[in-house]
Amino acid sequence: MANWRIRTRLTISFLALSLLSLLLFGSYILWFFHQHSMDAATDHLFVQTQIVEQLLREKMNGPIEKATIDPEIKELGAKNALHITIADENGLVLADSLANPLAMENTIADPEFKTALSGDKGTFIRYNHKAGENWLYAAAPYYRDKELIGAVRVATTLAGIEKGYQKIQFALLSAFLFASFLAFILSIRLGRKYTAQLDEITEVAHDIGAGKLDRRVHMRTEGELDLLAHTLNTLASNLDDKIDEMKAETNKLELILSHMDNAVILMDRYGRVTAANKMARDSFGITPEMLGQHNLSVIGNSYLDRAVREAIAASAGRLIDLKTRLQGNKRVFQVYLAPITGSHCEVTSLLSVFHDITALQQVQEKQSEFIANASHELATPLTAIKGFAETLLDGALHDPNLNTKFITIIHSEAERMQRLVADLLTMAKLDSQEYRRAMILQPTLFAPLIDEVIQELSPEWQAKNIKFDITAQNTSLSALANPDCLKQVLINLIDNAIKYTSSGGKISIRSWRQNNKAYLTVQDSGIGIPSKDLPLIFDRFYRVDRARARSAGGTGLGLAIVKFIIESLGGNITAASEIDIGTTFTISLPLAPEKTTDQ
Ligand code: ADP
Repeated sequence: MANWRIRTRLTISFLALSLLSLLLFGSYILWFFHQHSMDAATDHLFVQTQIVEQLLREKMNGPIEKATIDPEIKELGAKNALHITIADENGLVLADSLANPLAMENTIADPEFKTALSGDKGTFIRYNHKAGENWLYAAAPYYRDKELIGAVRVATTLAGIEKGYQKIQFALLSAFLFASFLAFILSIRLGRKYTAQLDEITEVAHDIGAGKLDRRVHMRTEGELDLLAHTLNTLASNLDDKIDEMKAETNKLELILSHMDNAVILMDRYGRVTAANKMARDSFGITPEMLGQHNLSVIGNSYLDRAVREAIAASAGRLIDLKTRLQGNKRVFQVYLAPITGSHCEVTSLLSVFHDITALQQVQEKQSEFIANASHELATPLTAIKGFAETLLDGALHDPNLNTKFITIIHSEAERMQRLVADLLTMAKLDSQEYRRAMILQPTLFAPLIDEVIQELSPEWQAKNIKFDITAQNTSLSALANPDCLKQVLINLIDNAIKYTSSGGKISIRSWRQNNKAYLTVQDSGIGIPSKDLPLIFDRFYRVDRARARSAGGTGLGLAIVKFIIESLGGNITAASEIDIGTTFTISLPLAPEKTTDQ
């Protein structure tokens, strides 16, 4: 549309310029011709006046002579097709080639006569009613001995000149029309030629604006428009590159965001959720329909909403700890709220990054719980030792009935502390990365280890007259494990079985291979574990019956160590129990590779 207008304007301008030039040129020619013809006619008439004056010179000497000139004038006028009029110094007509001088009026009223009788040459164009044409009148003064005695006027028709003038007018008009037509065609062609590239540039610019960034203007000739076309092409290709770069950046960002462990949520300045990464969608159950809703209805945490509002109002980042429940589970997040500002420093949106510290929190809680438990466990025997030592110092040392008893208690409490410290050290050792890295797994035969442990614990089981029943499906069954660790497991399990089985009881140990795993059970006929306690017995310091366990010398760490070892060996442990019937612990471990086992 704009181009169409430019083309029209261009065409009209070309046309107007051409027509104006033609008009001016034509007018000048006409004016020149007219002027030239009139000048020539006037000059001719003045020459005629001179001739007439010469012819009449002798006949103008006196009034008698003057009266005789009329016939001569009539003859001269008829010969030369001129209208000749002679007037005296007062304007009275003395002779006239076409009329009777006596019947004519005074000529002084005619402008050309008036001028001539005042001493100058006068000319005038008048419409001749008789002839029905324009006539040119030229009058010159007539002197004798430098005295003005009259005037001679010669007139001729302008019909010839006017006819020629009309012909030229017609010819010029035809030429003008023809030239105008040519100018019109030329203007259109020129306008079209000039705007063709502009049309293309406009079309390409329009396409680029609509997103077709691969469009380019075809370069033609050297000129200003080529510079524009070149600039547009460069602009489009730069824009294309920039958009590609931006797309790559966006993809990179999306990739990073979607693979981030942290949930990232973008909110607008009113606290409405506008975007969320995969982690955020999964963690908070954000569906695409929820985008655009307020964070309160999406995340449902007023503490977070308040922090969001404060961060936006202050236009400053904030770090908060957010405790919430997701799908029924307690979760703790460290949330960083970062307002994003626009060009006028106004907050346009807010980026929130949710760092899940639930596991860390749990570890920290467990650690503090463990320290509290360990301190408590250590404090109990220490208090006893301190109490009995003080009693001894206060005099009981010299009481033969009490001193041995108290020292025995101090000794047993010290032993308990020693066991506790030993267990704590074992746990610490097992917990250390270095130990686990240095732990070498090798095919470990069950049978010799079981024998070794039973042998080592013989004072305990013999004292309680406990029987052992060892059934091995295959004596060469071996697991891929660390022998020292596996021995620790067997010691803890068999020691527990002895501890929690009454005198005369029985302990069965079975081992077998199943589904590429090596299985081992330690089953006793002891007191059993209540079913409510069964899931907790592997926790650190957990004891079913504290008093009883303590009197049995337990620390509450044995099973925790067992579970820890079995799991770090890639195995599993389960417990089954019935009150007063007995307890069965079953461990499964990866089987040693065939080559090294001899089954
Ligand atoms: P402890 O050193 O006190 O035995 P453990 O971690 O080995 O600690 O065991 C935790 C608790 O589980 C014990 O206090 C005991 O109550 C119970 N328990 C463990 N083994 C047996 C078992 N064989 N029979 C009955 N109770 C058991």
